[in-house]
Amino acid sequence: MGRYSNISENAEQAMSIKYNTIVYDLKRKGVKVLVMSLGEAFFDVPLYSFAELPISEIYHYSHSLGIPELRKKLADYFLKQYSIPLNSDKEILITSGSKIAIYMALMAILNPGDEVVVQEPCWVSYPEQIKLAYGIPVQIPYDRSIYDYEKYITPRTKAIIINNPHNPTGYVYTKEEITYLLELAAKHNIWLLSDEAYSDFVMDGKFISPGSIDKEKNHTIIFNSISKNFGISGWRLGYIISNEKMIHNVLKINQHLITCPATILEYYVLNYFEKILSYTVPMMKELHEKRKAVAAYMKDIGLECLPGSATFYFFVSIIPTKLTSEEFCTRLLTEEYISVVPGLGYGYSCDKFVRISIGTSKLDEIKCGLDKIKEFIIKTS
Ligand code: PMP
Repeated sequence: MGRYSNISENAEQAMSIKYNTIVYDLKRKGVKVLVMSLGEAFFDVPLYSFAELPISEIYHYSHSLGIPELRKKLADYFLKQYSIPLNSDKEILITSGSKIAIYMALMAILNPGDEVVVQEPCWVSYPEQIKLAYGIPVQIPYDRSIYDYEKYITPRTKAIIINNPHNPTGYVYTKEEITYLLELAAKHNIWLLSDEAYSDFVMDGKFISPGSIDKEKNHTIIFNSISKNFGISGWRLGYIISNEKMIHNVLKINQHLITCPATILEYYVLNYFEKILSYTVPMMKELHEKRKAVAAYMKDIGLECLPGSATFYFFVSIIPTKLTSEEFCTRLLTEEYISVVPGLGYGYSCDKFVRISIGTSKLDEIKCGLDKIKEFIIKTS
C-alpha cells in the first residue's frame, strides 16, 4: 500500500460542496429538493458565438498572466468601478478561478508554521488552504469585533483574510474598518488579503476595497472572480491583483501548477464582457430586492441571522435546536428535502448556524423553506 501525507489525510472536505454533492445525488434519483445551499445565483446569461473568437489563438496555451487584452479590460473596469488603479502588465494575474488564486497567494507568503488570522464565520476553504500551504489558521470566534484582531497577531502572523462582501453573512465592510485593517497590516508588516468574489453584488456604491486606499498595494492582495459577478462559475476564471513583486511570485507558482486558464474562455469573456454585464447587472439588482424581501420575511417569522446586506447568503441562527448544525442539515435534507449548509463548516464557533443561499430558488419557495426551517428548529429544541 502506498502512503499518504498528513496534510491530505487531515484535510476536511469543503462543507458546502459536500452537501451540494448529496443534493446532486438525490436529484439524479428523481427526488425534488429545495436547494438553498448552492454558492451561486442562476442568471439567465445567453450563449454567444464561439465562432467569433480568434481561431488562431483559442486552441492553445496563452500568456501565463492571462491574455493581455482581458487583463487590460479588467484593469479599466477596476478603475471605473472601484477606483483602483492598476498596471495590467504587472499587477494582475488571471487564473483558473479565484480559489486557486487565494491558495497560490498563501503559498507565496507563508513559510511552514506561519499564521493567518481569519474571523469566523469564514469561507470554508480559508482554513484548509492555509493548512495546505503549511500555515496555521488562527480563527477568531464570530462574536468578536474586527477591533479585537490585533490580540490575535503574533510575530508569526503573515496575513489577515477578509471576504468583502461576506460569504456566508452578506456583510459589507465600512471604509473605517478597511482603513483600520490596512493600518494594522502596515503596523505589523503583514498582508491584508481581500477576497472580493461578490464585489458587484453590493449596491449603491457602498463597496470599498483596500486597493482603493492602499493604491501601491504594499499590503493588499485582492482576489476576484468571473464566477459570481458574471454568473459563470463553471468556467473557472478568477484573478489576483497586488503589487508587481507579489504578482511575479504568484506567476512562478501559477506557471508550475496551472500554466494559464482555458484560453478560449478568456477570449469569450473578453469579447462579450459588456454584453454579459448587461444581463447580470439588472439581475443583481433584482437579487438585491429579493434579499430585502427575504430579510423582512425572516424578521416576521422570528428567524435571526448575523448582520449583512449584500450577496445571496444569510447566516441563520438555529440556537434553540438541540442538534449540531450537521445533524440539523442532514435531517432537514432527508426529512424535509431542504438543503442548507451546516454552520460548522464556517468555524467551530458557528455550530448553531446554517448558511442559506437564496440565489437559485424562487421567493415563494424560499419563504416556504424558511417556514419549515423555523418549524424544524422548534421541533428539535
Ligand atoms: N471566495 C469565496 C468567498 C467564495 O464563496 C468562492 C466560491 N464559492 C470563491 C472565493 C471561489 O470562487 P471561484 O474559484 O469560482 O472564483
